[in-house]
Amino acid sequence: MKVVYDPAQKRHYPGFFLTSGARAPNPETPARADILLSAALAAGLTQELPPDLGLAPAASVHTPEYLDFLARIFTRWQRIEGASDEVIPNIHPDRRDGAYPLSAVGQAGYHMADTSCPIGAETFTAALRSAHAAAHAAHRVAGGEDAAYALCRPPGHHAFKDLAGGFCYLNNSAIAAQALRGITARVAILDIDVHHGNGTQGIFYDRADVLTVSLHADPTRFYPFFWGHADERGEAAGLGYNFNLPLARKTGDDGFLAALDRALTRIAAFCPGALVIALGLDAYEGDPFAGLSVSTPGFRRIGAKIAELGLPTVLVQEGGYVCDGLGGNLAAFLDGFGATHRVPRSAGA
Ligand code: ZN
Repeated sequence: MKVVYDPAQKRHYPGFFLTSGARAPNPETPARADILLSAALAAGLTQELPPDLGLAPAASVHTPEYLDFLARIFTRWQRIEGASDEVIPNIHPDRRDGAYPLSAVGQAGYHMADTSCPIGAETFTAALRSAHAAAHAAHRVAGGEDAAYALCRPPGHHAFKDLAGGFCYLNNSAIAAQALRGITARVAILDIDVHHGNGTQGIFYDRADVLTVSLHADPTRFYPFFWGHADERGEAAGLGYNFNLPLARKTGDDGFLAALDRALTRIAAFCPGALVIALGLDAYEGDPFAGLSVSTPGFRRIGAKIAELGLPTVLVQEGGYVCDGLGGNLAAFLDGFGATHRVPRSAGA
């Protein structure tokens, strides 16, 4: 299997982070990519640089207004006397269907859901390369490979069509799914990150061609708080095509795998031609976010279970933060997935 990754993705190095109102180091560090790449290579994957695909992958799921904002906001922000080094919002609209502000400060509030997605000089470049990794991995699978791993960093699943949030700018999993729509009428996205994939849900909420399923810590008391509840089932044509499985804090392997069974049953009933895994590793018991309690052997079991679907699959890296288990958890997932994954010749067409 290929690991698709460009070291330029490390050029984004966010500094600002607030946790319960207190300043702290931003945990979405470039070191994550080094750890994950080492683990993927040690697991036998071979690295491939994504080609420069320009704006097309991002434009397949994001609005032009938002992409224009991301491309220019850092330069505009620097023109504000006394502005912070990174773009960080300090005001948000209470509704999103009103007037669109001209001000850089107003637009930052409009396009950034929280303070966890600061924009620096290299953020858009790194996010574009991360999106290219997702798109290229999807193109490989669309071209006939059984699976590919996109080492996406910065991550993407909290990014809506016109809104950054939670370390995410461009929604890599959604971009991969949209690319796979070119080869099949139905694509499923399964998000196993400890945080609800709210951006992914939002992008496909009114669509029946992309099923979105997410397992995550119950948002009643966990980020992203305002999305990820079980009664969010989709709308319009997409009603019934979004499935959330919120889990009690500290749920361990057995509880997670029981919910995964329900998720996989729903996905099988959708009869997709391809699958995207939003592969967060922060459900780990030792992850700094401490939401769920999946063990390293648990990730092997999760990988093996997902592989039993027998679908052409794009693995898209989401969360998972620096801790002793990070590389081992990716290796365990890839080992379990690779040992079981077989795509029947008729699938994927
Ligand atoms: Zn996460």
